[in-house]
Parts: sequence; C-alpha cells; structure tokens
Amino acid sequence: MAREFLPVAEPDLSGNELKYATECIKSTWISSIGEFITRFEKQFAQFCGAKHCIATSNGTTALHLVLHSLGIGQGDEVIVPTLTFVATANAVVYTGAIPIFADSERKTWNINVKSIEEKITPRTKAVIVVHLYGHPVDMDPILELAKKHNLIVIEDAAEAHGAEYKGRRTGNLADLGCFSFYANKVITMGEGGAITTNSDEYAKRLRFLRDHAMSENKRYWHPELGFNYRITNLQAAIGVAQMERIDEFIRKKTDNAELYNSLLSNIKGITLPPSEPCAKNVYWMYSILIEDSFGITRDETMNLLREQGIDSRPFFYPLHTLPHYVSGRGRFPVAEEIAKRGINLPSSTTLQKEEIIRVTDAIKKIKG
Ligand SMILES: *Cc1c(COP(=O)(O)O)cnc(C)c1O
Repeated sequence: MAREFLPVAEPDLSGNELKYATECIKSTWISSIGEFITRFEKQFAQFCGAKHCIATSNGTTALHLVLHSLGIGQGDEVIVPTLTFVATANAVVYTGAIPIFADSERKTWNINVKSIEEKITPRTKAVIVVHLYGHPVDMDPILELAKKHNLIVIEDAAEAHGAEYKGRRTGNLADLGCFSFYANKVITMGEGGAITTNSDEYAKRLRFLRDHAMSENKRYWHPELGFNYRITNLQAAIGVAQMERIDEFIRKKTDNAELYNSLLSNIKGITLPPSEPCAKNVYWMYSILIEDSFGITRDETMNLLREQGIDSRPFFYPLHTLPHYVSGRGRFPVAEEIAKRGINLPSSTTLQKEEIIRVTDAIKKIKG
C-alpha cells in the first residue's frame, strides 16, 4: 500500500519482538536480571567478533561508563570528531574531562587523523572515533597514532552495527566499542546500549560499575562510586528478536543504498555517500551532500521534499557551534561544509523500491 508520508526511519518490529516481550511479562522477569540479557550479550559479542558484550541502558550510558571505567576525569582531554551526535562529547563532559574537537575528512566524512594529531597534548587520554551514518573510520592510521602517544581508542559505533573495516566488524576495531539501540538505529530495543571489548579486565570492571559497583561477595558493599546503567530483560528480549534479523536489515539497507546510488548518480551537484574499498558501509542513514552546483540549497531541498510528503534530516550541527561547546579552539572547515550540505533521506528497512523511486523523482523534480 502506498504511504502518504515517508519517514526517515521507522523500526521493524514484525519478528519475535512481541513474543519475547510477552515471555518476560508472563514470567515476571522484567527487570535487570534475566535470560534475554545473557542471550543478547552473547549474540551481540559474537556478531561483532568481540570477546565480551556488556549491555547498558542506552548508548550514552555506554560511552560514559567506558570513559569512567578508564579513570578519565578532571584535567583529562578526549579527542572527538566535531561532526557527530552530541552524546559522543557529552559523555566526556559527564566525567569532568574536556572534549577536544577534531575536523572531518572529505572522503569518508569521519574524523581526520591529521586533525587528531594536531590536537594531542600531554593531557590527552583517549580518542573516540565515530563511524558516521554507517561508514567505518579508516582505523589503521588512527590506531598507529594512538599507539605512539599511548592513547586509548574507543569506537562510537552507535550508527554502524555490522559495518566492516578490512573484513572486521565495528566493535572489534579498537580497545572498546559503544553501541546504541535507540528506535532509529540499525537494530533497536526502544532504548538500549552495549559496550564491546576483547579485554577480560575491562569487561569485568564495566560489569561491576554498571551495577552500582557492588562487591561480588559482600552484598551492599560498594568500594567505589558506581552507576545503575543496566539494561532490562524486556529491552534485551526485543534485542534478541532484532538480532535474529540483523543480517536481513543490513542487506535491505545496502540494497536500498545501491538503488538510491544508481538513481542519483547522474544528477549534477549531488555527492553520493562514502564507500571506500577497505570498508563496508551499512548505510544506517542514506546520506547525500547537496553541492552548490545542484542550484538549490540543502534547506530549500528539504522543504520541497517535505511538501511532497518526504521526510529528511539535516546532518548534525558540528558540536563546536553548539552554545555549550562554543570555543575559540581551532577551525573545522571540512566538518562545517559537510554539515551544511548533508541530508539523510528515508532509510528504513521497510522502504519499498517504488518509494525510493518516489524520493529520487522528487529530487529530480526539485532540480528542474
Ligand atoms: C545515537 C547515538 C548515540 C547515543 O545513543 P543513545 O542510545 O541515544 O543514548 C551516541 N553516539 C552516536 C554517534 C549516536 O548516533
């Protein structure tokens, strides 16, 4: 059936989600202990190729828990891309440390290794890389740089479940990986998050801190400050059902992107999403840039799409421009240009071929 309004993203919950959630309620295991949590953590770790998965209440708490567990706090600096969702930097601020912004590269829209290098100081403790809109970061140069300066590398993979770099999946490309399962992500639990790592030591500490930092063998004894960043069995139940279909979701997103690419490739002034040979983009969002030669601005294009019942989103505002992050430190010309030109088009796994054609026809009509 033809839809009047095409949303940018909508979850597909038509598998075993209801069945598993019902099992939680019938069994009364709705809180933060339960077999779906164990199952989800096993499945997700395996999917990423990582040894451990620690599920959390959302993606932001995953990031905060990771930074806190590493002892990052006041007086420390963490380098993050300026072009990302705000939570990447906010998590740094929650620890008392300072996020230091780095510029993007034109090729992948991700953090630029040269910009990272320029921002390293004796106070730098870690780098958070973000696989923006589903395309993995070119990790090797960053890992090399981090090794040289003794920095920890954290992946914010909230937008790139299943994306690959040189044949390895996100969540297994650095010291630690963080994921989100918010409603519009590659898979969802409504709210939810996860941390992946190959380190037994990190995993143990993260589990401890996630659960109020309560001593394993002495109940209500908390040797340090902890958090309640646990996930519920209900969330995990939905996650287990989503994991049964994650390969299908990624295939759909990839097929949709290929169709979009073929229909948009001949339009002057449109830059297609990045796709580097060493990477597999999962196209969390199908994203394009509207260049000057398109003849109509990005914002006007979005307005005209909306008039035709097609939803879209602008790219994130570079974080250094937000009121609580405005700072004189550095210039970010590439991130600013990408952010100004970028649009996320309808990207749901439920999207039909005719609907993609409807979007690309609308774009052609706008260009005139
Ligand atoms: C969605 C997202 C997050 C935050 O995840 P929540 O689950 O909404 O807290 C963090 N970083 C990036 C890059 C995201 O896209």
